Amino acid sequence: MKLVLATKNENKVKEVAQFLAPHDIEVVSLNEFPDFPEIEESGETFKDNAIIKASEACMFTGLMALADDSGLEVDYLDGLPGVYSARFAGEDKNDSENNKKLLELLKGVPAEERTARFKCVMAVATTECFVYTTEGVCEGVIAEKPRGEEGFGYDPLFYLPEYGKTFAELGLEIKNKISHRARALTGALDIISDLKIMMADEEEE
Ligand code: IMP
Repeated sequence: MKLVLATKNENKVKEVAQFLAPHDIEVVSLNEFPDFPEIEESGETFKDNAIIKASEACMFTGLMALADDSGLEVDYLDGLPGVYSARFAGEDKNDSENNKKLLELLKGVPAEERTARFKCVMAVATTECFVYTTEGVCEGVIAEKPRGEEGFGYDPLFYLPEYGKTFAELGLEIKNKISHRARALTGALDIISDLKIMMADEEEE
């Protein structure tokens, strides 16, 4: 079975393809569809954006599509940066400027009020125009200063008390087992496996 992952980010493609390969699911990305237009992530929630991306990729390619949307929610900031995680410090800013802005907004805030979570929603869109979603969450605390070299985005500030380390110190092997994305992907695999069985049944009839 073949599905298109609604992204041009090769790191994501590699991660998802590796996860789905043992289940006989081949993943292609939007890089194989150069005419695919840029998708505007105009939703107000991760779920809205994941559904928009999966539906558009499915309609354009005629393949079952999988899309994800993710970000960081900080309780003290009433859930910000949320869907604005990638562009928190501005459209043309980068990870280190996003992290700097987050630390400034949390200056002087005690540890017990620095609770946060990464969230990831995955959407699966079928060629019959059904869309299914699944969510993964990973709870943590925003550190006082960046620690660690691995990962990307807010990883150096995302501290996991049970490991005594930030995501950037923890390393990819463990991160990929406990992360919001890994958890959402496990749910997406269940959905895709059920759809595969349904499609096989329909072919037999
Ligand atoms: P997207 O889902 O790739 O659009 O990610 C949105 C933004 O959320 C990223 O640019 C990061 O700032 C943040 N983010 C999402 N997942 C992670 C993660 O695993 N580590 C660090 N930052 C993340």
